[in-house]
Amino acid sequence: MNELKEEMEKRLGCGIAEADDKSIYRVLLAITQEAAAKKQAPDTGRKLYYVSAEFLIGKLLGNNLINLGMYEEVKKLLEENGKSLGKIEELENEPSLGNGGLGRLAACFLDSIATLGLNGDGVGLNYHFGLFHQDLKNHIQNVSPDRWITDPSWEVDRKTGYDIQMAGKTYHSHLYDIYVTGYEGRTNRLHLFDLDSVDDGIVHDGIDFDKTAIDKNLTLFLYPDDSDDDGRKLRVYQEYFLSANAAHLLIDEAKAKGADLAELDKFTVAQINDTHPTMLIPELIRQLTEEGLDFDKAVDVVSKICAYTNHTILAEALEKWPLSYLKEIVPQLVPIIEILDDRARRRTDDLSTAIIDSGDTVHMAHIDLHYGFSVNGVAKIHTHILKETELANFSRLYPDKFNNKTNGITFRRWLIECNPRLTALLNDKIGTGWHKDAQELEKLLAFADDEDVLKAMLQIKEQNKKDLADVIREKEGVELMSDGIFDIQVKRLHEYKRQQMNALYIIHKYLEIKAGKKPVRPLNFIFGAKAAPAYIIAQDIIHLLLLLQTIIDSDPDVSPYMRLVFVTNYNVTYAEKLIPAGEVSEQISLASKEASGTSNMKFMANGAVTLGTNDGANVEIRQLVGDDNIYSFGIDADTVIAHYAKADYRARDYYEKDPVIKEAVDFITGPQTMAIGDPERLNRLKNDMINKDWFMALIDLKDYIRVKDQCFADYEDRTAWARKMLVNTAKSGAFSSDRTIRQYNEEIWKLN
Ligand SMILES: *Cc1c(COP(=O)(O)O)cnc(C)c1O
Repeated sequence: MNELKEEMEKRLGCGIAEADDKSIYRVLLAITQEAAAKKQAPDTGRKLYYVSAEFLIGKLLGNNLINLGMYEEVKKLLEENGKSLGKIEELENEPSLGNGGLGRLAACFLDSIATLGLNGDGVGLNYHFGLFHQDLKNHIQNVSPDRWITDPSWEVDRKTGYDIQMAGKTYHSHLYDIYVTGYEGRTNRLHLFDLDSVDDGIVHDGIDFDKTAIDKNLTLFLYPDDSDDDGRKLRVYQEYFLSANAAHLLIDEAKAKGADLAELDKFTVAQINDTHPTMLIPELIRQLTEEGLDFDKAVDVVSKICAYTNHTILAEALEKWPLSYLKEIVPQLVPIIEILDDRARRRTDDLSTAIIDSGDTVHMAHIDLHYGFSVNGVAKIHTHILKETELANFSRLYPDKFNNKTNGITFRRWLIECNPRLTALLNDKIGTGWHKDAQELEKLLAFADDEDVLKAMLQIKEQNKKDLADVIREKEGVELMSDGIFDIQVKRLHEYKRQQMNALYIIHKYLEIKAGKKPVRPLNFIFGAKAAPAYIIAQDIIHLLLLLQTIIDSDPDVSPYMRLVFVTNYNVTYAEKLIPAGEVSEQISLASKEASGTSNMKFMANGAVTLGTNDGANVEIRQLVGDDNIYSFGIDADTVIAHYAKADYRARDYYEKDPVIKEAVDFITGPQTMAIGDPERLNRLKNDMINKDWFMALIDLKDYIRVKDQCFADYEDRTAWARKMLVNTAKSGAFSSDRTIRQYNEEIWKLN
């Protein structure tokens, strides 16, 4: 303690009590960086490169202090000097390098790789604005650039880079590293490639910019609007830039270890996170042949290096590029991709597995499937659907490549850091072994009938709810009812996740209350979500939810019994405040559509009870906790898949035949919403729900209402509910990303 105090005062040039928060942040950042640097380990043996377009890492100060074992000491020292570590942590901007689950998964994986002491780094792009910043005015999502990179920064300038050829021009990349500290483990790195010529000044009117000025825009935004050709081409530029830099880096590092490139697989393994970095495969082949390997040998060795993770069965997310784009932007890859296509065609006469189809479209996933040595899904049901349905043609060709790796989360961020109260209770009752072996949380089951422990769990939840209510009052100006139930749906806005179905439930409740049927306890419905700017229906759903927020709030008949709040700019930092306060975890995607989900795991660990469909990892949660400790509803994945195959789902039938459904859907364009909302948006949304409803919200609505009402009724038996909370936390250890990463390592990477 004294050592830390002296060190801080030396750097501050004054006592801690006299320093301002900004200076303290700067000093803590420097001290943390130095402590992290000391824990770097030599690059020996095989090394993993986790290549991903997204890393949603969240703020770094608190997490690094925890992983370096310094958090408590720093917190105490600051407190003694009248300072708050929490306040200082707020000065940090959240790195905006991901959209949602896929990017957050990559971040949890980096934490676990370092914690398990594995030799593995992340490779990504240094987007200056990342994902957009969201604010909500006039019942609409407004977007603006998120300038997250500030001085001081966590990025270490490596002062090196590579020449990358695109569309006949040479671009010189610039490498920045972020240290990734393991919990009581080693320090690895997240490598982020950038371009010096990128110019923030070309952004105007929200997030618009000239999409053709590649030298100025290449690493400005994560996922530029791809609703037009220029936007889609910019994506191809970004993907090649990521892949080519990754290929250079891993060849360079292998050479530094004295590798014979013909045996590169002994030194290197690359995990391709979704299809975005797929060009790594042809690019590695290209660079290896430039290094002197013959073509066949290069294909052979690259096929032993690259492994692919599939994250979705939504067709629109399996990337396809016109061959003409690739000819324009990466002509150097086209002959290689043509040979790969040719060879793949010789392995089968199933034309559906072609890389370049008859319309000259390049199917990126098909490159991974033919030339990756491993293909994994991210939850049992997802992998099953990939094998039996979505990628059945490939699993017949390559049955041994397919494997499952159910997603996970790091308990360091998603329990120790975000929920100190529950952490203290767990440490007290079952020790601290669960910090590194989350399966030890099962020891909590011994307390399932211990009244004091159950009471403590309820009290902690109450306190966390009050904290969240304070945050929401301050940030959103909305008063929640902390004595009521906190029902939370936070995740990207997408029709398959069915926020619209939750909205219909809330309308139904509203109408019930208006008719005199009052809930026994107040209900708080909390949403957080960003919607892709070009995704119109998603904007319409946000519009509806924001209108409902206003309608409920301004109705004195209803507002004593329920509240709705849609929080602004949902991100990791917000998630860390929302999740510890969650009581009902809304995981209501249409069965078969959510590959895994990870917020379901975060909520479970923090003692929320899942209200969910039999989809993604919900299926595994249900198996673990048993039917008494989860609320499941809705049609199953086989039924959904059969409806799509037969094209026999007609939303209108459900709307017309059931007055409860009709009443809720009609409310969307009723007088109350139309008076304050945008008729075009509301009509479009209602029409879509009746005439299309591609994700079948109306099929499941009645069952959803029934089970949700049951869930709220059961909440009244507080002891029984506390036991459900306890069982959920106790069983959540199965979803530690440490478990997931051990499986990746044992079955795919085989690092020594
Ligand atoms: C965990 C997380 C997600 C993923 O949520 P899902 O409900 O699994 O889609 C998305 N965004 C943030 C900020 C997260 O922390």
